[in-house]
Amino acid sequence: MVACPYCGGEVERQPGEVVLTCPYCGTAFTVGGGEVGEHLMGRVNYAPHRIFELFKIWALRFPETPNDFGSEARLTGCDLTFYPYWVYEVAGSFRAAGGLEVAAAEVAVPACSRVRGTPLERLKLSLAGKVYYSHRYVVQVGGKLAAADVGPEEADRAAVSLAEAVVARRLSRRLGRSVAVRAEGLEKLVRRLVHVPVYSCAYEYGGRPYRFLADASDSRVLYAEIPVEARFRAAALAGAGSSFALAAASFALGLAYGLPAFALVTPLALAGVGAYCLYKASAREVVVKEFFAEG
Ligand SMILES: [Zn+2]
Repeated sequence: MVACPYCGGEVERQPGEVVLTCPYCGTAFTVGGGEVGEHLMGRVNYAPHRIFELFKIWALRFPETPNDFGSEARLTGCDLTFYPYWVYEVAGSFRAAGGLEVAAAEVAVPACSRVRGTPLERLKLSLAGKVYYSHRYVVQVGGKLAAADVGPEEADRAAVSLAEAVVARRLSRRLGRSVAVRAEGLEKLVRRLVHVPVYSCAYEYGGRPYRFLADASDSRVLYAEIPVEARFRAAALAGAGSSFALAAASFALGLAYGLPAFALVTPLALAGVGAYCLYKASAREVVVKEFFAEG
């Protein structure tokens, strides 16, 4: 237990947690005493059933998705978690090979190490539409908080290198070649803690379980598992068969006419197509990962 510096309330601490949010007054504070900055949150603008309806419409854009997906898929569970992110405004001078570049960037660093390696790691975040944090609101919408175990000092360093990467990408695009950039004399490094609401949903189709993640503020799908229609898999299998047959035929043709390059390249390309079809035919589910990288 740690005492809240604002209201004195006893706050429970998870192992490894370095930024705590007081459940009584909503104040976010660091265990080490470091400054948190402004504390904001995203609002929940979609109820679970609405998110599921939008997800099904989104999933039907893929040709592999079964035609009866909209009517047959059933929502079986939905959790709402508010994930903490450090969102930065970074501005100042950046040293590049050609000289100094004055630039500004908005970058986000996950405050929860659990999201590393998941689609949530590179979530595209903006401060637009964010409101002041209210713990009462989180409780009201049935959300829980993911533990914040990345402190402000560690996040500051990550934010500077993310900003360098953003400026480097921008410069590289402008100059048409790859440019390395180093922050030199930053005038602005404004840090905010933002809790972002994310739905983790489970659904069932044809007796099998699937999962998806969606942003509860704007309904964007962040991760999805979607079943593949049986007919599509059969078509892919047929495609694989004919590609392999064509590969064999063109190999024979190339040999017969004394065209060694043709005898090698064409069958290889066709075999590649065949292998891809085979791979498509073997996939029981399509996993779509939508990354919202910055830039
Ligand atoms: Zn408090």
